[in-house]
Amino acid sequence: MRIDIMTLFCEMCERVLDESIIGRARANGFVEINCRNIRDYTADKHNNVDDTPYGGGMGMIMQSQPIYDCYESICTDTGKRPHLIYMSPKGKVLTQQRVKELSELDNIVILCGHYEGVDERVLEEIVDEEISVGDYVLTGGELPALILADSITRLLPGVLSGNECFENESHYSGLLEYPQYTRPYEWRGKTVPDVLLSGHHANIERFRRDKSLEITAQKRPDMIEKIKDTLTPRDLEVIERSCEE
Ligand code: SAM
Repeated sequence: MRIDIMTLFCEMCERVLDESIIGRARANGFVEINCRNIRDYTADKHNNVDDTPYGGGMGMIMQSQPIYDCYESICTDTGKRPHLIYMSPKGKVLTQQRVKELSELDNIVILCGHYEGVDERVLEEIVDEEISVGDYVLTGGELPALILADSITRLLPGVLSGNECFENESHYSGLLEYPQYTRPYEWRGKTVPDVLLSGHHANIERFRRDKSLEITAQKRPDMIEKIKDTLTPRDLEVIERSCEE
C-alpha cells in the first residue's frame, strides 16, 4: 500500500514514521509512506501558502493552489486519482471498521490542515472524505494523519507477526480486549489469574472472552448495544452477572 501525506511539516511526520513498528514496516517494504511538503508547490514568489480569511476573523487559511498542485503531482506519480482524505474536526470520527476498509485500498492521500484550516473550494474540488480523530481541536492535521497512517499500517500483511495480533484487540470485533499480564507472577501482592498458568487453552479462551465481555459492558455499554444480536445466551449471562457486581 502507498500512503502520501500532504503537509507543511514533513519533518514532524518523518520523525514519527521512522520509528518502531511503522519505521520497520517502511524499511521492509510492507508500506510506502511519502511526506510531501505543500510549500514546495506554491506559486507565490514569497513562498506563502496561507492568507487572511475573507470576511475577517482570526488566524490564517491555507490557500487552494499549493494544495491542489501538490495533489495533482501525486496523481501524476501514481497514474491515478487516489482516495483523498482531509483530516478535520468536522469529519466522521475514525473507527476501527473504517481503518480496516481503508487498509484494503492500494493508495490513499492524506491532507493535513493547519492554522485556521483550509480554503473550502479546494476541499470541494479534490477531497473524497473528511476524517476526525475525535471531538476536540488540534493545532494541525499532522498528528491525526499519523494516527490514521499508523492504524492502517499495522493491519497490512507482514507488519505484525500474524492477524491474531490485531483480531483479538480492542474494537476489531466490537469488544474491548481482556486484561493482559506478564512476569513476575506476583507484583506488589497482586498475582496473575491462575487459569492463565494452567495451559488449558479452552479455559484460557473462555476466561478471556468473559473478561472482554465484562470490561466492555462496564466501560463501553454502547459497544455491547451495537453487537447485542451477535451475542450467545452465555455471553449475555456473563454481561448480566458483571452488571450486578
Ligand atoms: N477552524 C477549524 C474548525 O473550527 O473546524 C479548526 C482548524 S484546526 C486549528 C487546524 C487543522 O488541524 C485542521 O484543518 C485539521 O486538519 C486539523 N485538526 C484539528 N483537529 C482535528 C481533529 N479532531 N481531527 C482531525 N483533524 C484535526
